[in-house]
Amino acid sequence: MARHGLVIVHTGNGKGKTTAALGLALRAVGQGLRVSVVQFIKGSWKYGELRAPEFLPGFEIHPMGRGFVNLGAPEPDPEDVALARETFAAGREKVLSGAYDLVILDELNYAVDYGLVDVSDVLSLIRDKPAPVHLVLTGRNARPEVVDAADLVTEMREIKHPFQKGIKAQKGVEF
Ligand code: ATP
Ligand code: MG
Repeated sequence: MARHGLVIVHTGNGKGKTTAALGLALRAVGQGLRVSVVQFIKGSWKYGELRAPEFLPGFEIHPMGRGFVNLGAPEPDPEDVALARETFAAGREKVLSGAYDLVILDELNYAVDYGLVDVSDVLSLIRDKPAPVHLVLTGRNARPEVVDAADLVTEMREIKHPFQKGIKAQKGVEF
């Protein structure tokens, strides 16, 4: 069966965008696909998925950047812009390399929303993507142009989150 590489977007304010992408990765690895995740890191948490390559052949993950600091600033820090561009270049390289069947650019939508990566670069990547590669883009506030260019778009909608009750982030669920 010829593979039709999909452009998949997980967006919205509810929890589950990265988790769903990792679920896809698990499924893909089970089918013998080679998976790479490039993460635009937002904070300093040690995410459980960073240890997944110890247990999952065919899965790799690259946390990049130093976290998006000072989200309240009117302009992003040039160092964060440089790091995000480097992260995007690494992700683009993975997509174009032919070495992977599924590439996840985790939090890319958020990096675009925050002004760290140009939406035109994301649209070019979607255009240049080798046909068989599945590409997953996660993060809040996906741009309408990216949604238009995608094949599969899911919006996570918050109905409840334990954070609202003051329950702190749980290891293995949130990170
Ligand atoms: P996850 O990685 O858990 O799938 P996500 O990718 O959908 O979450 P992000 O915007 O990447 O969401 O946020 C990452 C962290 O913020 C996670 O620990 C997540 O549980 C938490 N989070 C996500 N949505 C909410 C929310 N609506 N309210 C509070 N915290 C949230
Ligand atoms: Mg996420």
